[in-house]
Amino acid sequence: MNEQTARREIVRVGQLMYERSYVVSSDGNVSVRLDDGRVVATPTMTSKGRMTEDSLAVTDLDGKPLNDRKASSELAMHLLIYQERADVKAVCHAHPPHGTAFAVAGLAIDQPILSEVILTLGCVPLAEYGTPSTNELTEAMRPLVRHHNALLMANHGAVAYGADIWQAFDRLETLEHTAKIAILSRLLGGSRNLPADAIEKLINVREAAGYLGESARCQACGYLHETKLTCPTGERSVVVNHAKAATNGAGKISLTREELVELLCEAARAGD
Ligand SMILES: [Zn+2]
Repeated sequence: MNEQTARREIVRVGQLMYERSYVVSSDGNVSVRLDDGRVVATPTMTSKGRMTEDSLAVTDLDGKPLNDRKASSELAMHLLIYQERADVKAVCHAHPPHGTAFAVAGLAIDQPILSEVILTLGCVPLAEYGTPSTNELTEAMRPLVRHHNALLMANHGAVAYGADIWQAFDRLETLEHTAKIAILSRLLGGSRNLPADAIEKLINVREAAGYLGESARCQACGYLHETKLTCPTGERSVVVNHAKAATNGAGKISLTREELVELLCEAARAGD
């Protein structure tokens, strides 16, 4: 993508994020990695609803400024994602209320409740809390970035990324919509999750259609562990434990078999 198009689309996406209440005040940030490796990013302390094309910052992949605008203090999160994922060309970070409510409650968005979300987005794990704009935050995200296309950050917000800015924005939108539906279904008495065989079929469809590749089987994701699907590289991403023990009201918690075994092993070790 050339710089002029990137500037125009970042401003447009910023307006959409603001209009849809994914951000308020000067929250959130958006960036695009250009074909020549430079990064165009939203400026610090500016409402995403009122940016102009000439207000955007340009940096290299280490965050070194290449123009006279100061990039968002959260640029490090974007640079980490570009470092870890050669396929990613754009990143959107926001604080959408329903997705962020999951992040505040210590929950991942990882229940198999919507067929199209399994097809297009997969699971959204929760990265442990880290102070924004420090490497505490980026280190908490690092192990998850390779396996997922969107993440929640504990007590902070959400980030989504993709091959272009619209794919990144669409993924953020899907994350927020899924979180909203999950919360509403809980108000109606709880969601009815898709069974393992339906999940397996959806994963076969998404791989055949090219929505998500086989590496998405390696996501840290409760429902994947319930299927017979295996991760081709044998490597699974790790998610913080407190996020996985989702509370289902009335003090009940649900754990996958893998998580239960892990807990019992930990308990056995503690008793040594
Ligand atoms: Zn933020």
